[in-house]
Amino acid sequence: MFDNATNTAELSSRLTALLGCSIAEAGDRQVYDALLKLSQSMAEGRQTQEGRRKLYYISAEFLIGKLLSNNLINLGIYQDVARLLEENGKHIGEIEELETEPSLGNGGLGRLAACFLDSIATLNLNGDGVGLNYHFGLFRQYFEHNAQQVRPDVWLTDDSWLIRSQRHYDVTMGGKTYTSTLYDLLVTGYEGRTNRLHLFDLDSVDDSLVTEGISFDKTAIDRNLTLFLYPDDSDDDGRKLRIYQQYFMVCNAAHLILDEAVERGCVLTDLDDYAVIQINDTHPSMVIPELIRQLMERGLSLDTAIEVASKCCAYTNHTILAEALEKWPLSYLKEIVPQLCPIIEILDDRIRRKLPGETADKVAIIDRDDRVHMAHMDIHYGISVNGVAHLHTEILKKSELNEFYKLYPEKFNNKTNGITPRRWLMSCNPELTAYLVSKIGDGFLKDTSKLEAFKPFLEDEQVLRDLIAIKQTKKQQFAAWLKREQGIEIDPDSIFDVQSKRLHEYKRQQLNLLWAIHAYQCIKAGYRPKRKITVLFGAKAAPAYIIAQDIIHAILCLQEIIANDADVSPYLQVVMIENYNVTAAEKLIPACDLSEQISLASKEASGTGNMKFMLNGAVTLGTEDGANVEIHQLVGDENIYVFGQSADEVIEAYAKKSYVSKKWYDQNTFIHDAVDFLIGKAMTAVGDEKRLNRLYQELLNKDWFMTFPDFDSYLVKREKAYDDYEDRLAWAKKCGVNIAMAGFFSSDRTIAEYNRDIWHLDV
Ligand SMILES: *Cc1c(COP(=O)(O)O)cnc(C)c1O
Repeated sequence: MFDNATNTAELSSRLTALLGCSIAEAGDRQVYDALLKLSQSMAEGRQTQEGRRKLYYISAEFLIGKLLSNNLINLGIYQDVARLLEENGKHIGEIEELETEPSLGNGGLGRLAACFLDSIATLNLNGDGVGLNYHFGLFRQYFEHNAQQVRPDVWLTDDSWLIRSQRHYDVTMGGKTYTSTLYDLLVTGYEGRTNRLHLFDLDSVDDSLVTEGISFDKTAIDRNLTLFLYPDDSDDDGRKLRIYQQYFMVCNAAHLILDEAVERGCVLTDLDDYAVIQINDTHPSMVIPELIRQLMERGLSLDTAIEVASKCCAYTNHTILAEALEKWPLSYLKEIVPQLCPIIEILDDRIRRKLPGETADKVAIIDRDDRVHMAHMDIHYGISVNGVAHLHTEILKKSELNEFYKLYPEKFNNKTNGITPRRWLMSCNPELTAYLVSKIGDGFLKDTSKLEAFKPFLEDEQVLRDLIAIKQTKKQQFAAWLKREQGIEIDPDSIFDVQSKRLHEYKRQQLNLLWAIHAYQCIKAGYRPKRKITVLFGAKAAPAYIIAQDIIHAILCLQEIIANDADVSPYLQVVMIENYNVTAAEKLIPACDLSEQISLASKEASGTGNMKFMLNGAVTLGTEDGANVEIHQLVGDENIYVFGQSADEVIEAYAKKSYVSKKWYDQNTFIHDAVDFLIGKAMTAVGDEKRLNRLYQELLNKDWFMTFPDFDSYLVKREKAYDDYEDRLAWAKKCGVNIAMAGFFSSDRTIAEYNRDIWHLDV
């Protein structure tokens, strides 16, 4: 189905040659290694001519997921390999289990970068990723004593996909010079070209520096630089380490970009004809002053260097949460990257001179407290500023970045996020993919707008029954996986209600938790749901984010209480999945019935999880936030459950400081009872009183992300969704409409827009 007519005999002989024995005789690990080498040589063979202009997508994270299956799919040999293995008593699924997921990202932002790389190569665009080679990634999560525990996520093995290159650069930071090493990952496009993900590292980094959990000496830069993604920044050493990482990333990136441009014949004053740099969030922002510095090192005057660099850089904003927009104390920068500070001061000074004092203060790069606003530098000295969903971009223009929008309206544009249909449909849901192909042909795999052709089929009852059967298969597969991984049994005949994403208060896992407590209390009082509900959570919480850990703790406590309560467990189960990552997401998402996208309106820039669920035939229960707004428009009122305050209402409530959570608690008995439960006997018997009490106080006295005002409408809509689910055919039709309308959310569409409006690469 997915394949070009590859010659199976040739495949077999190539594999056998790599193995040095027959496929049947080889062990699974050997077969995995051989497939890895085969994929790499095929990918290398497909590298295409470098165009003149090249994109560099710089990002602190790339959450790429396992690579074997996706590379086989993109190379067009997945089916043939699967068949060949089957004939020799092996199973591709089992071989794939041997791969450890690369730990190079954290959440949506990193996953977006990975989807973009796939689409850039698929669209035959000349563009590489640039980032860092973290040895232990974020961290590996496990649960003990109903709490999140963390350890290093070991993923670098001898048989990893990384290719050590001969490229090394000198990077001077904190008064010392370090020599980098570049590793490459080959990025295969679907029936497209091969690009690269460039990951810089330091040979002296020492994995044994990590002692307890994920603690390590934060000052030993030569040994710790690339150990972890987002090292704990709750102290000065941690914050400085992040600056070291960021500078190391962009200094190497700038060297690479300039070297490659010159190799292609670039005269540096024309750099923008050769390179465009997409700055993914603010972590790579120092690339602007660094590029200026290196251009000057290569002979350009300051003025020319600033002009040239400003024509090459474009910035993507991912958040309106003020605390997430990076501001570094100038004193830290003076200590670590003194070579950049005069440049940053000049960049700031030029803005201040151009603008009246009052405006200048609002948009300055260096503020009155001597903090450097990274996003401000990106906006002033870049060609483009984009948000990641329609609503998000509008909020940036109207409020968060309004001062900038007034200065540079032409720089602002929207690029609604997307996901790659290769990983998030073909690879994770071959059953649904094959079914869709049987109905509408395989054109949608390259042009997902063609998925809409599936819509008329939903009038056919048999099609609806088939969709139900596919979903049931995916639920059974997920249940088996969960049993294997965590020893927990769930009922595939129950409704799978899923919220999986990083843990953050604005995403409001606590609202879902309050719902589950309320449901528990209702069942205890004798009101039973028509069908069992399985509430599935997957979420990692940053180790320094205390209240997020408390929320995980409360969910795990509730999970235990319900599991041990014979009155309730036949009707309700709560399960927190350990170590939610791409591998888990690929198992979980196709099994989901109801997709929880319940962030406080205005706070989720886009979300991409929402798109993955939709594409796999889940119905969304969500607020009018991020890309949910666009999902709503595409599927219509009948095929989504929308609740809660609007973004405008929320923004107004914050502006007026009018929200008082305690009032809601006093007036609403459901809220009152659910919140009190957190510190009741049942919870404290299985949990930590201090943690539970902290969460209780937080909700009662602050509830900064306004869960209480949305609670009633959430209850009503969730109940309605469960009711509707019982009309199985009508529900299947909703699922089908979601699948048919998900084509807009392909990252191929997003990338085509980036290229049309910002990058202008030759195809
Ligand atoms: C898609 C994805 C995310 C992002 O989910 P959101 O709901 O958009 O926050 C996070 N983690 C993993 C593993 C993902 O695959």
